[in-house]
Amino acid sequence: MDSSLTPPENLWYPYVQMKNRPEYPEIVRAEGCILFTRDGRELIDVISSWWSVIHGYNHPALNKVLVDQANRFSHVMLGGLTHQPAQLLAAKLAEICPGDLNHVFFSDSGSVAVEVAVKMAIQFHRNQGNSEKRRIISLSGAYHGDTFKTMELGDDSDFTGAFSHVLPDTVRVNVPKGGYNAEEADLKSPIAELQDTVVRHHPQTAALIVEPILQCAGGFRIYSPAYLDAAREICDRHNVLLIYDEVATGFGRTGRLFAANHANAVPDIMVIGKALTAGYLGHAATIASNKVYRAFLSNESSKALMHGPTYMGNPLACAVAFEGIRLFQEENYLEKINHIHQLIVQEFEKICSEKIVEKRAIGGMGVIEVKSSATLSNFRSFAIERGVWIRPFASYLYVMPAYVISDEQLLKILRVMREFFD
Ligand SMILES: *Cc1c(COP(=O)(O)O)cnc(C)c1O
Repeated sequence: MDSSLTPPENLWYPYVQMKNRPEYPEIVRAEGCILFTRDGRELIDVISSWWSVIHGYNHPALNKVLVDQANRFSHVMLGGLTHQPAQLLAAKLAEICPGDLNHVFFSDSGSVAVEVAVKMAIQFHRNQGNSEKRRIISLSGAYHGDTFKTMELGDDSDFTGAFSHVLPDTVRVNVPKGGYNAEEADLKSPIAELQDTVVRHHPQTAALIVEPILQCAGGFRIYSPAYLDAAREICDRHNVLLIYDEVATGFGRTGRLFAANHANAVPDIMVIGKALTAGYLGHAATIASNKVYRAFLSNESSKALMHGPTYMGNPLACAVAFEGIRLFQEENYLEKINHIHQLIVQEFEKICSEKIVEKRAIGGMGVIEVKSSATLSNFRSFAIERGVWIRPFASYLYVMPAYVISDEQLLKILRVMREFFD
């Protein structure tokens, strides 16, 4: 075969113009935070494969439970059958989630789990005779997934631009500025805006959805826990449910087990995904409070939740997730994350450039926002040449490493970032 021929592109990659996409490194093995490529390179991974691989690659304990479960059975449907891996994981999640978030509905991806949360919220009201309450309020800069309803709730034209003509208008409020430690003055106007919006729309509104504390794909913005407490009060006053999308923030990314743990407020519904299964299998969960769950209990079968992904509660996924939570707790990951945070903050101090708008960090996430996305266009190859895998997007250069990353690896990554701006 003529090796100069471009192979046919059978594989359609995400978020990229296929006509001129760059050559991608081919991964043949991965271990801890290292990706090994076909052409013999070793890359330190700082993105943990879209923030999911929090325990690092090829983790022996996770491999073991996966194989053990595969040797028993790899899947049975939850429609009419049950199994221990799903039961145990549901009980574990109920135990570690805040407040009375006790009722766990599994699905196969974060987007679908957000869809389920929205369906739950709408049917919660309908089951009580409130079919008018069917709108969802969301935040500016939000990202909730790539399916239709989640695109509608999101606010990032990079993801939704091609569909703007089919997406209905949504009610959106501005996410607060001022970061984690925002002053009262910074919070006054966004809280007032939320209050006004809810007062105006509550007869038609089922829920408010937020990514608590840290918005990820929409722009890596950090906001104050006080906003969540205010949102909780406002929602309660007007019979609007509060949904937390913790698909990105769950499992330590903000320095607490869940971002919800930064505030007193407890949501009515919480969505988790990504790190839940540590990069082994796609899985997610929508977790409802007692109040939400009770609204589905009835003698009428029409009040049951009508959703059921084929792979929901997949035993392999549940077994890995359960073991992942055990590791997280037993190996005191929150301490590791705190240490990662210190290093990010310390090294970010040394990165200076007039091209930078802001440097932000919380828990195991650090981001450098630049004025123009063009600044970062060469970063990917610059980093690969130096043995680092970072994928900046738009005007954000971010790190979200696995929590098992070594100091040496993390410092190298941060040094490469500094060299780039120097
Ligand atoms: C990634 C993400 C989703 C979508 O999850 P998928 O598993 O990619 O469908 C939803 N919400 C947030 C906050 C996310 O970061």
